[in-house]
Amino acid sequence: MKRGLHIKLVLIMLLLIISLMTVVGAFLIRGVLSFYTNEFYNQMISFFSIPEFVADLRSAADDPDGPAKLDEILSANKGALGINSGSRNYYILDSEFGNPLLSSDPQENLVLEKSPNILAALTGEEGWSSSYTQNYMDVALPISGQVGTYIVYVRDNKQTVADLNMELFQIIVEALIIGLVISLLLSFLLSKTMITPIQSLTRAAERVSHGDFTKKIEVQTHDEIGVLTQTFNNMAKQLKDTLNDIENERNKLMTVFLHMTDGVIAFSRDGSIMHHNPAAERMLGLSLDDKSVNFNTLFGGFTSMDELLLLKSPEYAEYERNINSMDLEISMAPFSGYGEQGGILAVIHDVTQQKKSDELRREFVANVSHELRTPITNIRSYAETLVDSEDMPADMEKNFLRVIVNESDRMTKIVQDLLTLSRFDSGKADLNFESFSFSLSVKNIYEAMLLEAKKSGLEMSLEVENNLPDIFGDKSRIEQVLLNILSNAVRYTPEGGSISVRAGRGKNTVWMEVADTGIGIPPEDLPRIFDRFYRVDKARSRASGGTGLGLSIANDIVIRHNGNISVESTVGKGTTMTVTLPIETPVQQTGHFRRV
Ligand code: ATP
Ligand code: MG
Repeated sequence: MKRGLHIKLVLIMLLLIISLMTVVGAFLIRGVLSFYTNEFYNQMISFFSIPEFVADLRSAADDPDGPAKLDEILSANKGALGINSGSRNYYILDSEFGNPLLSSDPQENLVLEKSPNILAALTGEEGWSSSYTQNYMDVALPISGQVGTYIVYVRDNKQTVADLNMELFQIIVEALIIGLVISLLLSFLLSKTMITPIQSLTRAAERVSHGDFTKKIEVQTHDEIGVLTQTFNNMAKQLKDTLNDIENERNKLMTVFLHMTDGVIAFSRDGSIMHHNPAAERMLGLSLDDKSVNFNTLFGGFTSMDELLLLKSPEYAEYERNINSMDLEISMAPFSGYGEQGGILAVIHDVTQQKKSDELRREFVANVSHELRTPITNIRSYAETLVDSEDMPADMEKNFLRVIVNESDRMTKIVQDLLTLSRFDSGKADLNFESFSFSLSVKNIYEAMLLEAKKSGLEMSLEVENNLPDIFGDKSRIEQVLLNILSNAVRYTPEGGSISVRAGRGKNTVWMEVADTGIGIPPEDLPRIFDRFYRVDKARSRASGGTGLGLSIANDIVIRHNGNISVESTVGKGTTMTVTLPIETPVQQTGHFRRV
């Protein structure tokens, strides 16, 4: 770049000097020529218009030796006529043919070409014409006396002016050479003051284009280049700030993108994957970095790229698909980019849990209505029978009323259980934590169920380790759990069976185990016995007053104490349920962190 500009500068200077010198030279030469020509004619006019002189010439023409007389007069006036033998001479010509008879320069060979002025004089006219194209200037005047006629002819061969012009030309050439040398030096100086800052600007621009914003260019002058340098520095700073802002935004978006629970995949127009986040890979169950995976292999089965690209913002297409046994809601919309860029953005939302809880909610409402309708129907039919029958035996009437009381108790229990569950669900169930004796609670529950067990014809035994520590928890809720487990054992063990209750201490925990020799639970039902309203044998359970809410409430309570309930069961042989609770203060979990 330096070379280019430098050569241009030198060339411009050279052209400038050459053209300047040529113009000045041309004007000077032309000026000198016209000055000399004017001077010649003015001199001739002023001389040949003196009447006495013309009269002298005329009388000389009448002399028998006319030419010699004329020469005498002209020779005497050589100074006034500017005659010098080198370039300007006078001649006496005969008036008939215009041949020279005599010349002021005796050396001269008397041969003259017939100039237009001589031709004019031969016709008797005065010849004053001049032309720049002729290499001489001349005046031819016919001098007529009474008898003789001659032509006085003055001719200047422009030698003086040619010499002068030659000298001028030499001066101009010398000036031109000196000018060229000066212009060369000047162009070096100019290139130093102009090209050096431009070079440092270029280097800085190259650095910026490679993303290096560390160096600032020093502003050394206040001229246009200085302003340009300052503007460049400002522009680089602005660019750096903007790039930093973009980088920050990008990082923020990247964090959101990586950690969002919805899956996101961006496809380019050719269907290849441009971006994806870990959630998308997790949901689709495959690596999206694999180059063979593209729009068609993923979604080609139910939509096409062309169809989606026709959508106009804010339109989008939504599909629901079951992939990897997950219910996925896939929303897709085109996004625009610069030129041919852009493509399709797919957002994948996992609605499996939502669907499951919708299903559970529907089931729950159906169960609640069903459970409440049964006692209401019973109460109503018994009450109607009582109202309608007039002579019902007293003991029957009492029986009927007992059924009504039992059914309303059952309803109260259901409603109470539902209330407890809904409090747990909404997080409003406050647990009253206190320190209490676990072994005492186990004994109390055992005592409370003893009579019931005896009534059902069951053997019950209790074995509690000595010196069990006090635990920290909600005493009445924990007793509710223990009672449910023990009452289940009583309820689901046929007459003649036995139930053994044991309690002891583990590492930082206490436990209670209830083992019965009852009907047992089939393996396929085991995972579901903690679900709401779930009963293995609905009819049997209901007959014995069960609603299927007991274990789900018990499980909720135990989880809130950081404990757990485990079950082992064999159909026809019996069931063993174990509740384990921590001794230390349970820490309520509020959230969790996951490292990716
Ligand atoms: P509730 O406790 O609300 O009065 P329930 O006893 O029927 O009613 P859960 O305590 O939640 O309900 O028990 C759920 C189901 O688990 C019972 O219906 C029963 O089928 C089964 N089950 C629980 N404990 C035993 C057990 N010890 N032996 C056999 N089956 C059991
Ligand atoms: Mg129960």
